[in-house]
Amino acid sequence: ERALAEATSDPGARIEQLRREIEHHSYLYYAKDAPEISDGAFDSLMRELRELEAAHPEFYDADSPTQRVGGYVGEQFAPVRHAQRMYSLDNAMDLEELDAWLDRVTEAFGRMVPVVCELKIDGSSIALTYEGGRLVRAATRGDGTTGEDVTANMRTVKDVPLRLRAEGLAGIAAGARGGAAGADGPAAPIELRGEVYMPKSSFDALNAAAEANGKQAFANPRNAAAGSLRQKDPSVTAQRDLSTFLYAAADERALAAQGQWELLEWLREAGFHVNPDVERCETREAVHAFCERAVKRREALPYEIDGVVVKVDSFAQQEAMGYTARAPRWAVAFKFPPEEKTTLLRDITVQV
Ligand code: NAD
Repeated sequence: ERALAEATSDPGARIEQLRREIEHHSYLYYAKDAPEISDGAFDSLMRELRELEAAHPEFYDADSPTQRVGGYVGEQFAPVRHAQRMYSLDNAMDLEELDAWLDRVTEAFGRMVPVVCELKIDGSSIALTYEGGRLVRAATRGDGTTGEDVTANMRTVKDVPLRLRAEGLAGIAAGARGGAAGADGPAAPIELRGEVYMPKSSFDALNAAAEANGKQAFANPRNAAAGSLRQKDPSVTAQRDLSTFLYAAADERALAAQGQWELLEWLREAGFHVNPDVERCETREAVHAFCERAVKRREALPYEIDGVVVKVDSFAQQEAMGYTARAPRWAVAFKFPPEEKTTLLRDITVQV
């Protein structure tokens, strides 16, 4: 109520206050891996700020948290400038918002186009660069433009291939010949992206050990994954049970794939872990059904997910839709509100 009163009487002051609060919590979350408020509370602050900024465009500021990829570049790591920006995702908080995004896709092409549904893994973004088929660099998302060099730490994560399989190299060569990546075939560097996460059971064990040793526990598996990845000493990371799911390439033109579905196939062939729970959907009903199944399966999965990511499949169509300052227009994150799982299920049943 106080917030509302402040907002109506002095929206400029409330916007400033929200920006400061959000910056503070982002710092604790991304830099310290130790949030003080829940994700739901953080998202409410963001939402209020976004709504106020939309209603009062005179307070537009390119530095506002709504205009940027949230993140942090720590001083203990060498900075890595991303050749291609790493984006965040726009959220759909319910099926209505998901449908609004599907409407925009349909409008853009005059018809519903195929989309790929993936689980939204609740971990930390990672970018892996391979040169001549060998892993040469791993970087965090950071602020999207610059990340942190965590190569030594990522090399200890067991499911990350240090060399790409021959089948993967063939895909790069084929893409490089036809695309913009140059004609140097397998030697051309390629950057693959995905999520590094900590399984729920490993998170529980880590926190139990922390408590037994009187150390501070991590708030959730995502913070534990990010914290484990951002260790000064790689041997500490090596003792943490981290895993990966890959789902993107920085520049898909370097590959023979024409879309997200084919890219996932290539990643599997190249030797990466790709989440098996993916579906190429051609109708809105199929997208809804995927989301419904994901909500139901969530608890049983050995790792945390916080939603479903829906992506326009074709790279050409992705390019046509483009990006905002912080997120692609061709994708959306359908988020599960943790405390409202049953309501969500009911909503889905009603709307499908
Ligand atoms: P996000 O995590 O909601 O979504 C974007 C990220 O999703 C991508 O960067 C990628 O790493 C990840 N992702 C997982 N699976 C994916 C898939 N299959 N395809 C594509 N991407 C996938 O956005 P964000 O900007 O990283 O962070 C915002 C989140 O962090 C919110 O949930 C917010 O509540 C939380 N947060 C909390 C606090 C706090 O104090 N509690 C502070 C800051 C941020």
